[in-house]
Amino acid sequence: MQQALTHLTHYAQKRYLTYFVIMILVLALPFLRINDNHFFLLSFDHKKLNLLFFSFDTQEFYLMPFVLILLFLTIFFITTLAGRMWCAWSCPQTIFRVIYRDLIETKLLKIRQNIHNKQKEYPGHFLKKSIAVILFYIFSLLATSGLLWYFIPPEDFFVYLANPGEHLLLLGILFCSSLFLTFDIVYLQEKFCVYVCPYARIQSVMFDHDTIQVIYDEKRGGVIYDGKIKLHKKPPVGECVGCEACVSVCPTHIDIRKGMQLECINCLECADACSKIQNKFNRPSLINWTSARALETGKGVRYLRFRTIAYGIALSVVFIVLLTMSTKKEHMLLNINRSSELYHISHKNGNLEITNAYTFLFQNTDSRDHEYYFEVDLEGINQAVKIIRPSKPFKLKAGEKTKKIVVLQANQKLGDDDKKDIIFPLHIKAYALDDEKIVVFRESIFVYPKNTLLK
Ligand code: SF4
Ligand code: SF4
Repeated sequence: MQQALTHLTHYAQKRYLTYFVIMILVLALPFLRINDNHFFLLSFDHKKLNLLFFSFDTQEFYLMPFVLILLFLTIFFITTLAGRMWCAWSCPQTIFRVIYRDLIETKLLKIRQNIHNKQKEYPGHFLKKSIAVILFYIFSLLATSGLLWYFIPPEDFFVYLANPGEHLLLLGILFCSSLFLTFDIVYLQEKFCVYVCPYARIQSVMFDHDTIQVIYDEKRGGVIYDGKIKLHKKPPVGECVGCEACVSVCPTHIDIRKGMQLECINCLECADACSKIQNKFNRPSLINWTSARALETGKGVRYLRFRTIAYGIALSVVFIVLLTMSTKKEHMLLNINRSSELYHISHKNGNLEITNAYTFLFQNTDSRDHEYYFEVDLEGINQAVKIIRPSKPFKLKAGEKTKKIVVLQANQKLGDDDKKDIIFPLHIKAYALDDEKIVVFRESIFVYPKNTLLK
């Protein structure tokens, strides 16, 4: 007896455990904050992006393409390595179908007799089916909220919900999206995977002979199909007993013994079902999660190969770039524009005063309030200019922007040219007085008038 038990596979339990961990993670992550920053938040309301617990301003949205590249490369890498692993182990469509069909319809309301026959429909049960839809709609509200928390942080979300009259758009999105999700899971079902999902259509081009898939072992089980034509229910030669447990358990209503099909979401329900049957004969399942080459050669799956290594390297490079850019972000932004007047010449108390004016646009992109000021220096001449305006440091709240008119005055005679104005490179160092890490450097010019204008 003990010997026989070793052939059983338990992919379903492992998938349920994975679903549970994913759902807890997805719902809990928006509540986690470090220095007031979220793991991921794209807030159009606050015009900010949080990534890996760092905060970025709209002007730093250039990071988003890197996030998307990382996402696509991860999908390519996983698909080449493990086929449709995403579909079975993490896709919300599959997770929600399991919750609706296997948990609510079967375990809770007993509309379906068991989870081993997903082909059979159970007409009638109008009241129970209505309760199932209502229960799933309530769950959809939570799932949709979980997604919205990555765009409207929970600390705002619940305040908005408490004032529904002022946030009708949010309520509309929440209720309508939940309604659509319920329609998709209750009515479209796995038809969504087969006919709507674009990933199902493109993933097969990323497969190679070493990609892990769900494969019926024809050598052991026997030939059932010749192309699309079914030859036998039970093959004359082979270990397949023709019970079709693998067919009835399939949520996409296919027979894996026909070979790889677009409809197969790699859920491995058929492998579990066959393992129970074959276990009675003390044999392993005829349906395996392996690669075509591994099945042919009887050796292990080749994980390290050119395509997986290339994707792995590209993925690591993009991840390192993203991480470096995230950690090297500027905690303040400063844009500088010169005024249209080149310079201003005045005489005060018999002294000649030359000033240049600028507009400095400061923004505190840090999550804390800071006090800011700046220093200026002309290239090659120490202390040649002084700051007239603003005369003292100023405070900016987290995320706050301010425009400052800056006036610089020459401390001494800077030039002696009769024909043309002299242009000096100007170095600006702006910083937070209360945090030495917050400092930015900018370049501009200081224009000194020609002699003829000074007389
Ligand atoms: S469950 Fe296994 S034994 Fe039964 S029909 Fe499918 S492949 Fe054959
Ligand atoms: S063939 Fe098997 S792995 Fe593919 S969808 Fe059907 S039950 Fe899941």
